[in-house]
Amino acid sequence: MSADPTCIFCKIVAGAIPCFKLHEDDETIAFMDINPGNDGHALAIPKAHHPDLFSLPPPLAAAVARTAQRVAIAVQKALKPDGINLVQANGKGAEQSVFHFHLHVLPRRVGDQLKLNWGHRAGDMARIKANFEKIKAAM
Ligand code: AMP
Ligand code: ZN
Repeated sequence: MSADPTCIFCKIVAGAIPCFKLHEDDETIAFMDINPGNDGHALAIPKAHHPDLFSLPPPLAAAVARTAQRVAIAVQKALKPDGINLVQANGKGAEQSVFHFHLHVLPRRVGDQLKLNWGHRAGDMARIKANFEKIKAAM
C-alpha cells in the first residue's frame, strides 16, 4: 500500500500518531478532526496515500464515500445536528491543508454561519473525546 513517510494521515493510518478512531476496514479509516469546525467533525480517508481527488483510484473513492456515509449516519444518530455537509478540498486554491485525500463529515446547526473555509482552531480534546464516544457508540 502506498504511504508517504512525511504525511500526517499516513502516520495516523500506521498508528504512529494517535487519533480518535471511529471506523477501520481494509481500505479506509475514519477519525475525529482535532480542529473541528463544529462538534462531531470527522474525517474519512483511504489507508493508501493519494494526495487528492485527481489521483484517487475510483474504487477507493467509493470506499471512502461508504465510510463517510456510515460515519454521517452515526453522527446524525448520536449528536442530532440540524444537517451535515460532506466537504472535500483539492489543491491550495481550495484551501486543502493535508495532501492525503479526505472527506470531511461536518455537522451543521441552523444559524452556525460556518463558512467553507472555517479555519483551523485547536479543538478542546475533552469535548472531541466526548463527541467521539457518542458517535462510536452509534456506529
Ligand atoms: P483540509 O484543510 O481540507 O485539507 O483538511 C485537513 C483537516 O485535517 C483539517 O480539518 C485538520 O483539522 C485535520 N487534521 C490535521 N491534522 C490532524 C490530526 N493529527 N488528527 C485529526 N485531524 C487532523
Ligand atoms: Zn498520506
